[in-house]
Amino acid sequence: PLTLLWFRDDLRVTDHEALTAARDDGDVVAIWVREERDAEGRGPRPLGAATRWWAHESLQVLGTELDELGIPLLFAAGTATQIIPEVAADLEADTVRWSRRYAPASRALDEAVARELEARGIASEGSPGSLLVEPWEVEPSSASAYYKVFTPYWNAARQVSVDLPLPAVTAQSLPRDIRDRVERVRRENAHLLAEIDDLELLEAGTGPASTRFTPRSGAGGGAKESSLGEGDPRFPWWEDTIARYWTPGCVGAREAVDRLGERIAGYAEDRDFPGDPEGTSALSPRLRFGEISPRQLLAEVDALGDVGAGDREAWVRQIYWREFAWHLTYHVPDLDWRPMRPEFADFPYEDDPEALAAWQAGRTGIALVDAGMRQLWQTGWMHNRVRMVAASLLSKNLLLPWQLGEQWFWDTLVDADEANNPVSWQWVAGCGADASPFFRVFNPERQRVRFDPDGVYVRQWLEGDAGEGAGGVDAGDDSDGGAVAPIVDLGESRQAALAAYDAMKSAQTSD
Ligand code: FAD
Repeated sequence: PLTLLWFRDDLRVTDHEALTAARDDGDVVAIWVREERDAEGRGPRPLGAATRWWAHESLQVLGTELDELGIPLLFAAGTATQIIPEVAADLEADTVRWSRRYAPASRALDEAVARELEARGIASEGSPGSLLVEPWEVEPSSASAYYKVFTPYWNAARQVSVDLPLPAVTAQSLPRDIRDRVERVRRENAHLLAEIDDLELLEAGTGPASTRFTPRSGAGGGAKESSLGEGDPRFPWWEDTIARYWTPGCVGAREAVDRLGERIAGYAEDRDFPGDPEGTSALSPRLRFGEISPRQLLAEVDALGDVGAGDREAWVRQIYWREFAWHLTYHVPDLDWRPMRPEFADFPYEDDPEALAAWQAGRTGIALVDAGMRQLWQTGWMHNRVRMVAASLLSKNLLLPWQLGEQWFWDTLVDADEANNPVSWQWVAGCGADASPFFRVFNPERQRVRFDPDGVYVRQWLEGDAGEGAGGVDAGDDSDGGAVAPIVDLGESRQAALAAYDAMKSAQTSD
């Protein structure tokens, strides 16, 4: 039997349940689709600019790895509801397999694909692979359908046992007639299939518009439009920036995993200091694209005999924060723009494009935030502590809708993730399920003194060549970040944020 294996957020060939099942059944042909949402809005959130770059690079590595296994990899762009059934039928595949995804709009799409396949007499099956625990495997005993608070979630999720990673699959030698079918499908489906370089993953603003929230005062809805779109002068050529920092693909992921022991040693303490380049694992884009499975990471951590139990536990806890974000994302639609606490739909945010542009470019005059925003622009990644501080400045001191910051991160982070990004933004903005209380406004100056006491991080990103932010702003003339006057007074803006929060609450009670 022939299986069409549909790769999505699982760009690896090891510990891959769907691949293993497909090889157990027989022959395998693989496909990856640059997906657009279909007319009903079903499908994953379209990739942002930085994740498009990552996907382009990672897929080439996947192609090489699959080649060694004798598995051809096809590419296509468009709506999967059309492409997958058509290609599967033309290949005369018996089954289509994939690793499950969990956001409501993606699940709806996968169900639609499965129905379409069934109508053509083709079986389909989704397998686990991206999470340690399926979102429905942990249910609170209370009336709520899902956990809204992390700690009880964690306590329950840890009780669910996690299997060991799967052994590697063996290479196949594709029979002649199937090879011929693949060639015929390639020839005859030029309207559906493409070469990877035709997917326009590296081109500015050519892709399907990703989601952008346009604030309408008091309204909960969002218009959809990319923030780094066609003709936007800020769109960078990633080769000159983030490509210098990363080796996408499952081979690079395995190398990163080899360094995991060094990163986890001291993690409980070091993880909060952005100036420590070894402080955290930097595995987030690998997990985002499934270049390594969380279960493989858990097995690696278990094998790190010489690393302290406290450090290991602290790190594994963060892996479960990712699980928790997917648990929420599974249960709650539209997390990228709809606040989980509904009263926040009426929060009196400001409309201030200049402040937004200054924040994006790392020119707020607040050193820790500017350093973080430039690290993001240059590397596609930002340290977690600085993400929290930058998000707090945007959503509280600047009183800008958190959705605008979330969208910027979506376009510029290589780990931009449909669960972690909106859930973390909602957490910082105070409107999430398990949000930090609104009055917890980070003081970025105090955070800098505490977590970057020697100024290593701020100097690294605000000085010299590294200091270029979005918009080609050269920091040559403001190398200490201090030449730009702060665009807000931290004390006054904190008071204004608390007043805005009170206004929201009293509007609610008078309703
Ligand atoms: P490590 O500290 O080594 O942690 C290991 C892994 O655990 C990470 O790779 C990640 O998968 C997971 N993890 C760690 N911290 C968190 C967390 N707070 N929440 C959820 N999972 C976590 N993470 C993303 O993967 N994608 C995003 O789009 C994203 N957006 C964020 C936006 C904001 C405003 C904030 C405050 C946080 C965001 N995070 C996001 C969470 C966190 O900042 C990153 O996962 C982390 O910085 C990645 O670095 P690392 O791989 O070195 O993490």
